[in-house]
Amino acid sequence: MVYSCINNILSLLYPDHCRLCDAPARAGLCAGCREELPYNAQGCRRCGLPLTLGRELVCGHCLQHPPAVDRSLIPFLYAAPIDRLIGQFKFSGRLAQGRLLSRLLGDHLERQATLPELLIPVPLHPSRLRQRGYNQALELARPLGRRFAIPLDHQSCSRIRHTRPQHALNKHQRRQNIRGAFQVSQPITARHVALVDDVVTTSNTVNELARQLKRAGVARVDVWAVARTP
Ligand SMILES: [Zn+2]
Ligand SMILES: [Zn+2]
Repeated sequence: MVYSCINNILSLLYPDHCRLCDAPARAGLCAGCREELPYNAQGCRRCGLPLTLGRELVCGHCLQHPPAVDRSLIPFLYAAPIDRLIGQFKFSGRLAQGRLLSRLLGDHLERQATLPELLIPVPLHPSRLRQRGYNQALELARPLGRRFAIPLDHQSCSRIRHTRPQHALNKHQRRQNIRGAFQVSQPITARHVALVDDVVTTSNTVNELARQLKRAGVARVDVWAVARTP
């Protein structure tokens, strides 16, 4: 009661504004800016890669080499202004941008997703975690867990090898780079799991983790991420 009074007073003093254009807005984004976001209108069902042909559901690569990930739900392309919001969230400690991104991802999932039994944020290597102070994937996953009433597991999977950033490597190096990077240290009882991450650059990282989870007995692994690089 007291808290809701305080919140009401605060919202009168500081009406919500759009994080992109400063116009008055509900939930952090005005209708105009929301409409102009770079939507990944047709992504490959398996890896989220933006597809150009209207009728395709799965990209050629996934058809030839079916990945460990069963379904990718990635609403945006890694392009302006989403890339900027992600950068501020990840590298400048602006956690409010993370809450906005999580809300936008949730709005997309609400319309599409068969809900998993468990959410697993893609783990950071302990040294990266120390450097950043938080795992951006966990910060995105927490509000989603609350919104969809799905438990969160950020203990069972860990990143045991420090890897170089995927975007700096070629195709072959990327696969090598990520091999054996993750460990599943506890049994996972859920049959259907969703991995949560901010950006999927190549699907190598999430596929490697999905492979480990399937070895640990998980039947279906989805990916929930904010943005996909083309
Ligand atoms: Zn706006
Ligand atoms: Zn694909």
